[in-house]
Amino acid sequence: MSTTPLTQPLQQQHEASLHQLPQSQQQHQQRSASTIRHVPAAACKFYLEHHFENLMKHHHERIKRRQKLEEEMNKVKLSEQAQEQLRQLLSMKESRHLRMKRSKLNVGMFHKHALLGVGAFGEVHLVRKKDNDQLYAMKTLRKSQVALRNQAAHVNAERDILGEADNEWIVKLYYSFQDEKNLYFVMEYIPGGDLMSLLIKKGIFEENLSRFYMAEMTLAIESVHRMGFCHRDIKPDNVLLCSNGHIKLTDFGLCTGFRWSHNSTYWNGGIPEDSVDMSNDYTSKPLERRKRRHRRHCQSLVGTPNYIAPEILQRRHYTKSCDWWSLGVIAFEMMVGHPPFLARSPAETQHKVINWRQFLHVPPAARLRQEASDIIYRLCADPGERLSDPANIKAHPFFCTPDPVNWDTLLHSTAPYVPLIRDELDTSNFDPVEEDARGADSDGDDTSEQLAQDGINPHEKFPDFTYRRFFDSIY
Ligand code: ATP
Ligand code: MG
Repeated sequence: MSTTPLTQPLQQQHEASLHQLPQSQQQHQQRSASTIRHVPAAACKFYLEHHFENLMKHHHERIKRRQKLEEEMNKVKLSEQAQEQLRQLLSMKESRHLRMKRSKLNVGMFHKHALLGVGAFGEVHLVRKKDNDQLYAMKTLRKSQVALRNQAAHVNAERDILGEADNEWIVKLYYSFQDEKNLYFVMEYIPGGDLMSLLIKKGIFEENLSRFYMAEMTLAIESVHRMGFCHRDIKPDNVLLCSNGHIKLTDFGLCTGFRWSHNSTYWNGGIPEDSVDMSNDYTSKPLERRKRRHRRHCQSLVGTPNYIAPEILQRRHYTKSCDWWSLGVIAFEMMVGHPPFLARSPAETQHKVINWRQFLHVPPAARLRQEASDIIYRLCADPGERLSDPANIKAHPFFCTPDPVNWDTLLHSTAPYVPLIRDELDTSNFDPVEEDARGADSDGDDTSEQLAQDGINPHEKFPDFTYRRFFDSIY
């Protein structure tokens, strides 16, 4: 392995200085010298750039928290003494947070309860953190799988958005950490299951329920876009139901903030994102298995590009409006009972999505209200004609008649369907995962050899992955 020109003279100076030290100190220094790893210059550059980007981010977040506190205190006109106490409290909390950030997390600090879902690179479990007794959803991703399939940019983008989001429509990320084998996301646990599980259970939704989920998804997508992100993978599996029946978005694995650190070109050593085969996502092993789950609902292969906008599949220029296309596809599936581009193979689905003008038909037998089929056609449209402005979507007659949606109070209204959750460990609202659908925790990893052949070191791909939420208590 090559060393950087910068580290070579440093190494020589270090060795020379060892001879001038007392013996015990020499031994100590030699021990630590043996742990110094020589890494390629590109990896050094990569680490430093990322590290400093994160440092700056934390610095700005700290300033923002202080500004927010000042604003809040101004609003309620606190006395000078009370203000000073709150400033001191925040500063204590900041120091505690810095200390906590330095302490290491590991998977042994969590007790695993049930398997909630399986994704392309790993699994999601219901876990309890041993020290605070709180429940979380823990997503485990195999590093080697992520590295092999050039998904480092996506995983880091997911960490960024879940960590940055302080938004009622997005699941909160509490911690992220890594070990030799895996990356871990510890998220807020949403106990009502996902929308795909509910679709499997109910087959089709009444218009009123569909309208409620559509309206909430509109607000959720709008909030993601406002944060400067584009989700790119809006589908029923990624819409979770809270205990009160309201929704939250998860799985920002394909999300992009259109930032440099979310660009696969950077992470793939100059290979542009175009050559990162996104269709891999649809043919991965765990996903192949998970498709059986969807077949029960669609009698066909899903886990296919059913919800992805045609411009993305065609690798044409795309904007945030791709998320509104996906909303149109979900609207169709909820009200018609199957997705619009149903096919026997991912390739066939892809063909149908790309040639959507020929294949998108709301069947008359579904007896949809004209307003309902119209919103589907207006969302699943060419990017130039697509309904993409949240204000226009909200003003569509589908949301205005027979009774208008109250957008301001929607999140605090009573949901038309409230999942039954018997106790805190009841996971029956999640569609059971088949035993063979194992991801990151399964034994055997046939990717390590492949990575070695390709000269990829998965451990160099995730610098500064660790994260702790500032307000890390759920309640
Ligand atoms: P994909 O194959 O869609 O890329 P993934 O590996 O990115 O999957 P997620 O979509 O994040 O994984 O999660 C997989 C499933 O796990 C979800 O469909 C959902 O059923 C469950 N799940 C994920 N996050 C949570 C959460 N915070 N609370 C409860 N369940 C969750
Ligand atoms: Mg998912």
